[in-house]
Amino acid sequence: MSNLTLTPSIMDTYTRFPITLTYGEGSYVYDSEGVKYLDYTAGIATCNLGHRPPSVQHAVEEQLNSLWHVSNLYHIEPQEQLAKLLTENTVFDQVFFGNSGAEANEGAIKLARRYQQKIKGNNRFEIVTFKQSFHGRTLATLKATGQEKIQDGFTPHMPGFRYLPYNNYAALDDLIHDDTAAVMLELTQGEGGVIPADKQWIDQLVKRCQESGVLVIVDEIQTGVGRTGTLYLYEQYGFEPDILTSAKGLASGFPIGALLAKKDVAQAFSKGTHGSTFGGNPIVTTAGYATVKEILKPGFLAEVKEKSTQFIAELQQIKSASSHIKDIRAKGFLIGLELDEPAIDYVNRAREEMATLFVLAGPNVLRILPPINTSEEELNKALCVLRDLFNQ
Ligand SMILES: *Cc1c(COP(=O)(O)O)cnc(C)c1O
Repeated sequence: MSNLTLTPSIMDTYTRFPITLTYGEGSYVYDSEGVKYLDYTAGIATCNLGHRPPSVQHAVEEQLNSLWHVSNLYHIEPQEQLAKLLTENTVFDQVFFGNSGAEANEGAIKLARRYQQKIKGNNRFEIVTFKQSFHGRTLATLKATGQEKIQDGFTPHMPGFRYLPYNNYAALDDLIHDDTAAVMLELTQGEGGVIPADKQWIDQLVKRCQESGVLVIVDEIQTGVGRTGTLYLYEQYGFEPDILTSAKGLASGFPIGALLAKKDVAQAFSKGTHGSTFGGNPIVTTAGYATVKEILKPGFLAEVKEKSTQFIAELQQIKSASSHIKDIRAKGFLIGLELDEPAIDYVNRAREEMATLFVLAGPNVLRILPPINTSEEELNKALCVLRDLFNQ
């Protein structure tokens, strides 16, 4: 245990683990006392290529020597390159860059409303989201988030949101009201406990939206950028969303958020309707471009799929020998072990006794988020740790 004294000058919004991390390389981080940890939190699904991936580090170092920031009053080459790369490799036509996941979701909500009101000429404003979802901490996105604990104490709440139970077929009958502008959802709920959406449920949801002119917004802030074995998870569901939000993994840890949309929807953001001073600045978009380039290299995503499938099969073995693991839910390297008791004790033991970092996804779910380029050796190491934790 560390004898760390916490600084009183930072607001007390996080329960922090009692270590200070000072160095990172690949799948490992080191603390201020020199302990080396296998980092299977990846900055909460953000350092998808591990810490300081060489191609990203190199690109950012070069960019640091030329231009840091100019605002969006001017053309920015790396921003245009990243936008082109994203649109060429998705079903979307245009991108807006901000600085975080919540900011991307704010933009998506604004874009959906403006599309309905200015392009379609109706008065639709309502955004339907789902229970146990997580969409961010700003005033609009905390209201989009279907969890009361995140909304507590922040009234008056932003109007115009309604929640339905996730993966619930019967609830689809109540999906769309007269003033519904968009349905916003995670295709696998991350913070809510790693809950993948049923494919058929998504098929039906999308069909209903398309029939009634309601936009589908996928929040791929956690599922995106290779985490689940495809660049974005919607590809595995076989439909085309109208709007997608991306953030966490998009720039290997540099703060970025992106809002991707089809052209007919994107046109609702005409000049002067939305903005962000830092959004898409040269440094972060350089990091983003190098990151996405790496992930799109031939064979890279196939390897993510292969390794994660193998790893999950091994986890099933651990589950069958353990009385404490109730369920394993996963999409690629977004993995949750649902336990029959609080997962925090396991997270703490893994860190303190086995120098391995995991994170929670709700009280009873241990979430495993390896860098998606983690090696087989590292995966085997993690399996040993998990066997020790659950099967001794
Ligand atoms: C993390 C997350 C967000 C919020 O992103 P921030 O960058 O923390 O604002 C929104 N949606 C999902 C699905 C997330 O996982």
